[in-house]
Amino acid sequence: MTAKSAAAAARGTVYGYPRQGQHRELKKAIEGYWKGRVTADALEETARGLRRAHWQQLADAGLHELPTGDFSYYDHVLDTSVMVGAVPERHRAAVGADALDGYFAMARGTQDVAPLEMTKWFDTNYHYLVPELGPDTVFTADSAKQVAELTEALALGHTARPVLVGPVTYLLLAKPAPGVAADFEPLTLLDRLLPVYAEVLADLRAAGAEWVQLDEPALVQDRTPAELNAAARACRELGSATDRPKLLVASYFGRLGDALGVLAKAPVEGLAVDFTESGAANLQDLAAAGGLPGKRLVAGVVNGRNVWINDYEKSLSTLGTLLGLADRVDVAASCSLVHVPLDATAERDIDPQIARWLAFARQKTREIAVLARGLARGTEAIAGELAANRADLASRAGSALTHDPAVRARTAAVTDADGRRSQPYADRTAAQRAHLGLPLLPTTTIGSFPQTTELRTARADLRAGRLDTAGYEDRIKDEIREVLSFQEKAGIDVLVHGEPERNDMVQYFAEQLTGYLATQHGWVQSYGTRYVRPPVLAGDISRPEPMTVRWTTYAQSLTERPVKGMLTGPVTMLAWSFVRDDQPLGDTARQVALALRDEVHDLEEAGTSVIQVDEPALRETLPLRAAEHTAYLDWATEAFRLTTGGVRPDTQIHTHMCYAEFGDIVQAIDALDADVISLEAARSHMQVARELAGHGYPREAGPGVYDIHSPRVPSAEEAAALLRKGLEAIPAERLWVNPDCGLKTRAWPETRASLENLVTAARRLREEL
Ligand code: GLN
Ligand code: ZN
Repeated sequence: MTAKSAAAAARGTVYGYPRQGQHRELKKAIEGYWKGRVTADALEETARGLRRAHWQQLADAGLHELPTGDFSYYDHVLDTSVMVGAVPERHRAAVGADALDGYFAMARGTQDVAPLEMTKWFDTNYHYLVPELGPDTVFTADSAKQVAELTEALALGHTARPVLVGPVTYLLLAKPAPGVAADFEPLTLLDRLLPVYAEVLADLRAAGAEWVQLDEPALVQDRTPAELNAAARACRELGSATDRPKLLVASYFGRLGDALGVLAKAPVEGLAVDFTESGAANLQDLAAAGGLPGKRLVAGVVNGRNVWINDYEKSLSTLGTLLGLADRVDVAASCSLVHVPLDATAERDIDPQIARWLAFARQKTREIAVLARGLARGTEAIAGELAANRADLASRAGSALTHDPAVRARTAAVTDADGRRSQPYADRTAAQRAHLGLPLLPTTTIGSFPQTTELRTARADLRAGRLDTAGYEDRIKDEIREVLSFQEKAGIDVLVHGEPERNDMVQYFAEQLTGYLATQHGWVQSYGTRYVRPPVLAGDISRPEPMTVRWTTYAQSLTERPVKGMLTGPVTMLAWSFVRDDQPLGDTARQVALALRDEVHDLEEAGTSVIQVDEPALRETLPLRAAEHTAYLDWATEAFRLTTGGVRPDTQIHTHMCYAEFGDIVQAIDALDADVISLEAARSHMQVARELAGHGYPREAGPGVYDIHSPRVPSAEEAAALLRKGLEAIPAERLWVNPDCGLKTRAWPETRASLENLVTAARRLREEL
């Protein structure tokens, strides 16, 4: 095909769409089903209605080929496990008795059976259920869901393309089932899995699919030659069938690198590739590889995971280049739109001037259709849209919100010295001990205490105007008093105020920082029926006034013991927000860091001697490719140091991260130059402590001895045993005693009992030393 005819055929598509519905109907129906208030038939009816409505939205927006099978009651990876018959042994009876209840049992567990483990989908905030596989896994094809959804869409008159998690990505995301050797590699099951995929593909072909999409995002990560070989083999085997649909192998979230050559040579009819910021290099790589002669290229030029309008001219230029490189070029979002909220026009509280810059799922589908039209018929066909787009981009670039001269001047003036404490750690620690007068093995908590129904009701009442600010603040103070008095009685050494005033550790700060926007309806699926509303970091960041000082000083006024100031760190503030795409992340992080630095300063001025800066997202935002780690860790570390570097030597800086696997970033954690770190460790039997020691980590650390994810109360003996393990790796002078994470999801009774046991354990150990 010539470039001209490739253009004329251009069409728009997406790989997936937000599942929940405008009014979160799906969440309500599913949770109603769990509570027995909604029947299975009614749930299915709601789901079918949502699918129908979503396809109609996509078609009305002007898309030509619609995805099917992307819909899910819980998670598309779990759906894939069902599709290939990979149901864990312990769930088979439940699945056999009732497919739907069995499905939810795998997702959520039951009284007697543990659910599948949940983890993050690449570097997004979407969580999938990890397939459990072993050498005995027998795969069987169950194409019912895929076929049913395709049939539904076709019956409605749509052109539909089923979307499946590809076999290689599926296996690479899996882990050894319980009882299987930890070094078992699920990818060794590929030969067994491929025939099952072939069967599903044949079923979809028989049901009327012209094309089927196989998602292989795992190929944008660092892959070994053996893994790339597996991808080649998968394409070869699936491509060799005669009764199959055309295959579109999709990748997203980044650069394909070596995998591009593998896919370009594979006997599949099309590739979908990310050409946004994260996949920018794909364009040169593709040209260098000689393009995709004879293949269809689906170009992800509209960013599927941010909330900003597209730059049409830039996209059209990319698309223009691609026209010469493939047989046919279509336009798409870079990834499924499940990672963005549904509709920006639902946001009535956002300044209309700023709302023009926003594109959620509905707006993005329109952008894709416009670009496809521009590509097919020439820019004259979209002259009006181009002009409007240019004006919106100019309004954003020239806005006072995105360019605050005071913020710009301040970030420009930052020097290395700003990120350096005035004394090295080894000298500071003595000053801090003297200043704080702490015992060996000091006890503390991570920050939040139970977020009770009363607290949540008070917040709802405040929002609804049923409670005035003074009344609300009285409730918060009552809570702080209770939290303080409990900790004193329990004998905890470094106290916290309990964070009762915070709805969420990021949103609370975002609401108080200039440059951040909150959304009313910007829900995004985090996992299952849990949706979050990330704030939008839209402009230059500044702090009009102190954010936490009032509550911390109130708490400190109630006790002689040190009360920790509690802040969310700059990296986490970015990671759990939608961040601006018009400047490097490091620049944005620096702005947030300076705002937090002022807060740290004000806390210190107000008499706070211990300040904790939480960075639970530091590890999870690590780029997918190792080659990019250093650049990321450089700006992340700089931002943390800028936040905390200005304090006196005797002010103790804590940080907290809630995960256990971070051997690869111990050096970076050390470079944060914090005095104390608390980490999750209870479930892994202090594995973290051994890892820190193994890497020669020289600072104070509190590996958690209380698993806060469970209502279970650890006994004093149990906590003491964990501490003894901790002491084998970390000397007593540097070991802290604390839970794994904040206590906001726990109830008071188990919290009280657990913390009392934790103090008892610390005291017992002090006597033994
Ligand atoms: N300080 C926060 C809390 O205790 C930390 C939460 C987190 O690490 N995710 O709730
Ligand atoms: Zn945590």
